[in-house]
Amino acid sequence: MPPPRTRGTALRHRLAELRGPDVPAKALDARALAALAANPGCERRAILDGAGVNKAVLADALGSPSAFGQSQFAFMRGNAFEARVKADGGAELLRLVHEKLDAAAEPPTRARVPELTAVGPEGRAARTALALREATEAAAWTLLDHPMLALDVAGSPAFLEPDAVVVHPDGSWTVVEIKSFPMLDGSADPAKVGAAARQSAVYVLALEEVAARLESVPRVRTRVLLVCPKDFSNLPTASAVDVRKQRAVTSRQLARLTRIEDIADTLPEGTCFAPDRPTAELTAAVESVPATYAPECLAACELAFHCRDRSRASGAVTALGRSLRAELGDLTTIDEVLAAAHGEAGDPDDPAVAALRRAAELRAEALAHHAEGPYSDRGILDAHPDELRSRQGVLGDARPEGAPCR
Ligand code: SF4
Repeated sequence: MPPPRTRGTALRHRLAELRGPDVPAKALDARALAALAANPGCERRAILDGAGVNKAVLADALGSPSAFGQSQFAFMRGNAFEARVKADGGAELLRLVHEKLDAAAEPPTRARVPELTAVGPEGRAARTALALREATEAAAWTLLDHPMLALDVAGSPAFLEPDAVVVHPDGSWTVVEIKSFPMLDGSADPAKVGAAARQSAVYVLALEEVAARLESVPRVRTRVLLVCPKDFSNLPTASAVDVRKQRAVTSRQLARLTRIEDIADTLPEGTCFAPDRPTAELTAAVESVPATYAPECLAACELAFHCRDRSRASGAVTALGRSLRAELGDLTTIDEVLAAAHGEAGDPDDPAVAALRRAAELRAEALAHHAEGPYSDRGILDAHPDELRSRQGVLGDARPEGAPCR
């Protein structure tokens, strides 16, 4: 008699079926794990990532290729910048960590940079764990250049490689992310900083797993160091980024991933995401899993173009952005919104319906007013600037001359 199949084995078997026979699993990397936190409610992404489906290949097979990828030039520029930041035994990098995160500690003079090479990701992860333990015991500034960390994801290890981890003299650990987008006057593009923070939060979680295995558990700092080029130069500058929120969201998402079995159970018998399936079959398989498309997906998920097309075709308001979606409450499609605005449907006591009706009234009033006004017979863009200025005065613009226009 074969031994009874455990829950974990059964799940792995089911996920392999979903991926397709002979299709190798795509390992989850930090970017993929971070993207889970960017769209926590998407079951489609959760099951595809959990099953190790290569979403870029799937998007190609669906006829909506993803637009991800870095130009060769940007790649080389990023590598050159990182090499510069880590030059001279990481002296500048450690100076930045000291200045931004641990100014009370003794300044780093000579850093330890342990050798981390080993065979295979498992070997490198073990070597990293050993180096972290030794550095913590040594209580000295230590730079781990491209360490390898293993994070348990739904029962399988995901191997992650942060740009650097620094061990402080007090034995605490800091994640360092080196990015090639510029920091102008001390601040960078919030969307890019947000993505870097989510990625760093994944590394923090992985480091916490390593720390938990040590006898005296060291502190993993939740303020990470983001290093970027200063203004338009190639000089490094840095900022401390608090990733507690991103860490909490990612941790919840990873816990949810272990419940992908529940999602898998809802899928029709025979569902398979193998890219060699006919497009119609593949599309039906993908559509059988609920998705929560939002414009943020465009920067985080390979299936974004496919999901956007579907979302637009169904008139879903999420395609217009999450904040709008939240304000519309129970109204989930554009048809429902228009019907509510025109008084054809919707509960008048619903604040969203009431606001839509008021907005529709104001719009109708404005259009009627415009039809009666001096520009009704020609476009306002045809008017002379002096005429527009005098019209502005008629409309009651009491702004004193020279005052700022709001
Ligand atoms: S693009 Fe589609 S699958 Fe990916 S996160 Fe967005 S909704 Fe989910």
